[in-house]
Amino acid sequence: MNRREFSKHGVMLGVGALAGFSDSSKGSAGRQSGDYYEEPSKKLPIRKFDVVVVGGGTGGVVAALAAARQGARTMLVECKGYTGGTVTEGGTALHSFYNLWKAFPGVKKRQVVRGFAQEIIDRMLAVGGCSGHAEMMRGYNYDSVCTAIDTELYKLVTMQMLDEAGVCLALNTLVTGAITDGSRVRGAIINSRSGREAVYAKAFVDCSAYGDLAAYAGAKYTVPNDYACCNSIGLANVDLDGYVAHLEEHGGSNQIAYGIRSGQPGKVVRFNGGLGGEFSAEARKIGMSSMITTVHDNYLMFVKCNFKVPGSVINRDDMAKAELEVRKRQAKAVDLFRKHVPGCKTAFMARTSPTLNIRRGRLITCDYDMTHEDVIEGRHFDDDIMVYGFHDNAPRYQVKNGGTYGLPYRALCAAGIENLLVAGMMITSDHRAHMSTRNTVCCMGQGQATGTAAALCAKKNCGTRDVRYNDLREALIKGGVYLEA
Ligand SMILES: Cc1cc2nc3c(=O)[nH]c(=O)nc-3n(C[C@H](O)[C@H](O)[C@H](O)COP(=O)(O)OP(=O)(O)OC[C@H]3O[C@@H](n4cnc5c(N)ncnc54)[C@H](O)[C@@H]3O)c2cc1C
Repeated sequence: MNRREFSKHGVMLGVGALAGFSDSSKGSAGRQSGDYYEEPSKKLPIRKFDVVVVGGGTGGVVAALAAARQGARTMLVECKGYTGGTVTEGGTALHSFYNLWKAFPGVKKRQVVRGFAQEIIDRMLAVGGCSGHAEMMRGYNYDSVCTAIDTELYKLVTMQMLDEAGVCLALNTLVTGAITDGSRVRGAIINSRSGREAVYAKAFVDCSAYGDLAAYAGAKYTVPNDYACCNSIGLANVDLDGYVAHLEEHGGSNQIAYGIRSGQPGKVVRFNGGLGGEFSAEARKIGMSSMITTVHDNYLMFVKCNFKVPGSVINRDDMAKAELEVRKRQAKAVDLFRKHVPGCKTAFMARTSPTLNIRRGRLITCDYDMTHEDVIEGRHFDDDIMVYGFHDNAPRYQVKNGGTYGLPYRALCAAGIENLLVAGMMITSDHRAHMSTRNTVCCMGQGQATGTAAALCAKKNCGTRDVRYNDLREALIKGGVYLEA
């Protein structure tokens, strides 16, 4: 863009102070240099914490809670105006995965994910926002239980819990950079309507799903681009009982769970809504190949249209095209429901996710990378921070004998960085192993481990690798985490 075009642009966009390219209300001047604009240097106010957690989603909520409960002065930076992340936006619910039991005959029922992940469920149950761990009556070679949640109450409950724990909640605030000192992260640059600030901490936890802080801090990463994006719809004004009855008359749903819905026990909370015929043929064209859903009263969550982004999932322009394409598909999906699905004649789109969701974006290289064999062989490590047993591709891949595998602490230490832990969908490069570690409840467990460890680092003023495993294990067990001997 030459200077004339630039000026024209400036006028069109209503940029007030073109002379001198003033870039802030304080009026400090930057410079244009060829096709680039050089930002003026600027003093940023510094805020200091023990632990900063980036991303208040599935893992980040638990990480911040864990750090604060260890007594660390904790800031949670979340770019949206609420917490919960993909748990609330995908409408995915916490489908299951707390328990292991029926997938293999004879396996004793046991809950393997407890701790703060379970505490959130207890709080949700207390306000009528959760179906409880409802037993799967069909489809249990895949899941043993289904834990459907009211996603709006999840936002409220998690924000209240963070507030009670004394976490400084920086909502509507985006992390846009890192301040590093050799291999140490000193601070994160955050942007909000209060301006740009530098937040310093002794230890950082990146739970941003895309590994934004880690990438800014120079961590190694890859972008596998191996999944379609989707934006899940909440479809309201649905006669659920009518829909489920129709499914049962026509071959039935291959997944079904009953639980508390709208205060009434024994109601369907999960089913698989495939209808076959014209509906399925048309649905496939818009990336709506599966219709497994959890439900609220007269409301279908998690109706999703998939779209494989032709470019990169970390490219703004490619993603803007994908956002539009998916919205076109969603409009078609609603038409299909109205036309073909009993009980949906007057259904409408009550909500969509604020942005496209994807199962993985950036993958951050960590000190250890979980393998498929680690998962399915049920391996445990001498630095396990949680145990888990669910696999998204069951029954094809399942942990041997219906047991658990352990997730080692070192799988959460960002390689080459002294004081940065990562948790959530950004770990585990093996596609098949990731189909287990990325699940919501596993991300929550990782959150508890990273938040606890970060607080221990801050207390001891040490790097993430200098935390004594026995101290971490003891703190996790005190926090209710289940670890095998
Ligand atoms: C379509 C779909 C279906 C799925 N189905 C299931 C399922 O049925 N069951 C299951 O268990 N799992 C499912 N998953 C996987 C699971 O939901 C995710 O892997 C998990 O929720 C990811 O958790 P996370 O903490 O890594 O990220 P998120 O929960 O996405 O949290 C990341 C948070 O970081 C914030 N953030 C991002 N960048 C910044 C920044 N720079 N500054 C500040 N904040 C930032 C975001 O706003 C967000 O709140 C599904 C995923 C998808 C996409």
